[in-house]
Amino acid sequence: MKNRPTISDPYTDPNTYPPGVAFLDDQYVPVGAAKISVLDNGFLHSDATYDVVHVWQGAFFRLDLHLDRFFQGMDKLHMSIPYEKPQVTEILHNCVAVSGLKNAYVEFICTRGTSPTFSRDPRDAVNRFIAFAIPFASVASPEQMDRGLHVAITDVVRIPPLSVDPTIKNYHWLDLVQGLYQAYERGAETAILLDTNGNIAEGPGFNIFMVKDGTVLTPDYGVLMGITRQTIFELCQSLQINCSAQGISPLELGAADEVFITSTAGGVMPVTNLNGKAIAAGQVGSLTRRIKDHYWRLHEQQTDRSVVDYGHASGL
Ligand code: PLP
Repeated sequence: MKNRPTISDPYTDPNTYPPGVAFLDDQYVPVGAAKISVLDNGFLHSDATYDVVHVWQGAFFRLDLHLDRFFQGMDKLHMSIPYEKPQVTEILHNCVAVSGLKNAYVEFICTRGTSPTFSRDPRDAVNRFIAFAIPFASVASPEQMDRGLHVAITDVVRIPPLSVDPTIKNYHWLDLVQGLYQAYERGAETAILLDTNGNIAEGPGFNIFMVKDGTVLTPDYGVLMGITRQTIFELCQSLQINCSAQGISPLELGAADEVFITSTAGGVMPVTNLNGKAIAAGQVGSLTRRIKDHYWRLHEQQTDRSVVDYGHASGL
């Protein structure tokens, strides 16, 4: 065969991947060795659901909420896996423990899978479960966290809820990726997409918040019900800060006192420039800072932590 791949080939070389541990087909493997069939409908049709939870200083944060969202997503998509929540919990803990990572990005996925006849009927497919733990990843770099992200409101419309239910965490990302390219062309670092009413929706991997006159607002339509978003609601309630979900127009976002985005991948991330214009004089807002600090302090609360037992990890 011509052009035979060698070990330095980017498609086969495990060194091309971040370090980490994956679980699939009842085995724990180095993340670079975790492969699925090209015939899997998760790959061919984005027919999959997934979730991402993070591990911070050796403990999962709000794992139960992520598990609930994942199992609800599978139900809505008529998918099932041979594991209940306690078994998935054990698998995720094992991936992290074996990896040794104290701060980790942990993703778990159910794909439609495939059928021996390559049938078009999704009911014939055998669903597949995959999980992996890699080093903690953030939407914003440390520099961007410090000075605030520069974001563009694009004219890309997020896939509407009538087409794909956004409460099912999914891989329909072509709109988000198009948005990213549009943002880069405009000199921004990430993108905001609109909903079908022309209001602010969400961005690639995050929900959007604004602060106006001391009130925290976030879109209520056409977005993933982010676990970080939910945490912000609860946190604002405990800090007696008004927080609500409602339609937000691009003009309203542009006139905000502060803007921040939220994701399991990064937590609370400040935005200081929108469409080339400074927000709050280009400084990270004081309420954003307060919410961010409280968000990370919550990680010390026993009720939200699920501690990883690194001592009992079995090897690969
Ligand atoms: N919106 C989208 C499209 C996402 O992909 C994500 C996370 O990946 C979020 C919002 C934020 O959700 P969470 O806070 O649960 O990470």
